[in-house]
Amino acid sequence: MVLSDEEIKKLREAGRIAKTVREEAVRKTKPGTKLLELAEYIEKRIEELGGKPAFPVNISINEEAAHYTPVIGDGKVIPENSVVKIDIGVHVDGYIADTATTVYFNPVHEGLVEASKKALEKVIDNLKPGIKANDIGKIVEETITSLGYKPIRNLSGHSIDRYMIHSGKSIPNYNEIFSRWRLVDGVYAIEPFATNGVGYVKEKNIITIYSIKKISRIRLTSKEKSFLQNIWNERKKLPFTERWYKKLFDNVESLRNTLTLMMKRGIIHGYPLLIEKSGGLVSQFEHTIIVSGREIIITTE
Ligand code: MN
Ligand code: MN
Repeated sequence: MVLSDEEIKKLREAGRIAKTVREEAVRKTKPGTKLLELAEYIEKRIEELGGKPAFPVNISINEEAAHYTPVIGDGKVIPENSVVKIDIGVHVDGYIADTATTVYFNPVHEGLVEASKKALEKVIDNLKPGIKANDIGKIVEETITSLGYKPIRNLSGHSIDRYMIHSGKSIPNYNEIFSRWRLVDGVYAIEPFATNGVGYVKEKNIITIYSIKKISRIRLTSKEKSFLQNIWNERKKLPFTERWYKKLFDNVESLRNTLTLMMKRGIIHGYPLLIEKSGGLVSQFEHTIIVSGREIIITTE
């Protein structure tokens, strides 16, 4: 997809905001920090800087790899000695930046964190338009394994489109020989995950993030219809959290019941929490890149 100058401008703006907020979030993340406060701070800063969240900020601790955002009234705090992934999405008029970093508080975890960080750096150093997705995976895998850790094989980078965080193509974190497609004009997120576990994630039945699957008004009350319409108008299929829609409901109970009902009816999708299969610790770094002709722009660096 060839991008216009106007589109590149918006993508760069989203990237600039995401980078700034990521750096501010790192400074705020300490043992004892409330996850809810951190999430609200991050999402408020995104808006103050002129963007909108492309998805609810993911704050994933230790063996959690992705898909946890604090819920209404969340009492969780950052634990001592933990490994914390902060994954931030920003959009400007639907043009998305997706970036993540890992914070740790005990030097014993330096190696694990360095492994995914180095993997991303090495990929960036070797990027060129037309690079094959599996060659990126190869670099990630070799870097992480050479440092004594494992990449997470069932998590991957992805292509990005307007209002679409995962637009269909995956960039593996290992040399997946069936992923020989080439990165040409378009937007992509590259996100190596490293672990001291077995190198796979599994789903846990905790859902805090949702997105619209299809607009269907069958058997919905007028209140539920306007909730759905509200999300669609603002976000299309971009993910959302219950935290953003508190005001539309009398109480949290009815909000959560509505979400459960809509999931059952196949109107919205719920993203289960992803944890490392063997309970291993997980680190992650992520940047968004634009490939435009012969040029590569890293928007979140
Ligand atoms: Mn991300
Ligand atoms: Mn991503």
